[in-house]
Amino acid sequence: MATVVAFHAHPDDEVLLTGGTLARAAAEGHRVVIVTATDGLMGPVPPGGAPRLAELRASAAALGAHRVEHLGYADSGHGPLLYPDPPDRTRFARADTEEAARRLAALLREEDADVLLGYDANGGYGHRDHVKVHHVGRRAAELAGVGRVLEATAPGEAVARVMRTARALRLLRHHEEPDGLYTPGAAITHRVDTRRFARRKQAALAAHRSVVDGNGRASAVVRVLVRLPAPVFGLLLGREWFVASPREGR
Ligand SMILES: [Zn+2]
Repeated sequence: MATVVAFHAHPDDEVLLTGGTLARAAAEGHRVVIVTATDGLMGPVPPGGAPRLAELRASAAALGAHRVEHLGYADSGHGPLLYPDPPDRTRFARADTEEAARRLAALLREEDADVLLGYDANGGYGHRDHVKVHHVGRRAAELAGVGRVLEATAPGEAVARVMRTARALRLLRHHEEPDGLYTPGAAITHRVDTRRFARRKQAALAAHRSVVDGNGRASAVVRVLVRLPAPVFGLLLGREWFVASPREGR
């Protein structure tokens, strides 16, 4: 049995990009560890701890993951401005890549990880923290000598089609999602059918209460998703995609 470490930028990313794969790996007897770079907070950590990390732990439990860790960085935000750091920690986008990779590599060594899941070179849709996950993940795998690095993505052409439809239906504003990101379908190396784990993935998504109960359009979309019958949810979100890092086979 293998140990899979999934490295993510923010609480909730573990669900949409890799939730089905992680649920399937856990169900098949592998050890599953989720590591998030940021706590999903732009400001200082409140006295009770970051609420989104508690939601992440509930989500991980729904997926059957065995361990959850946080590298200690703040969210960098997705707007045009990278705000100054909050007083208590560094924004991930501003973190020293080598130092962040050493933190992750220590975990990879401790877990004797066989597989690291990271993000593709575009950081999927291009959030600066997701691009950073790509670089930090690759470097950490190199430092810890992890043999397999699979980078979570989606077929870029299909994503662009969905975005065009969403804009036509006025579900998204034009500036919200750029075109041409993720990875071209022809470059994707692993397609994982996770439809059997739709119920677990849906429960994990529902565990992110601050997203489900949020005010934005993304929250409105998530509220629809968590209420769908599980088989319909599986049709929409029951496939996950990865691109093998070129390190593989070296
Ligand atoms: Zn994210």
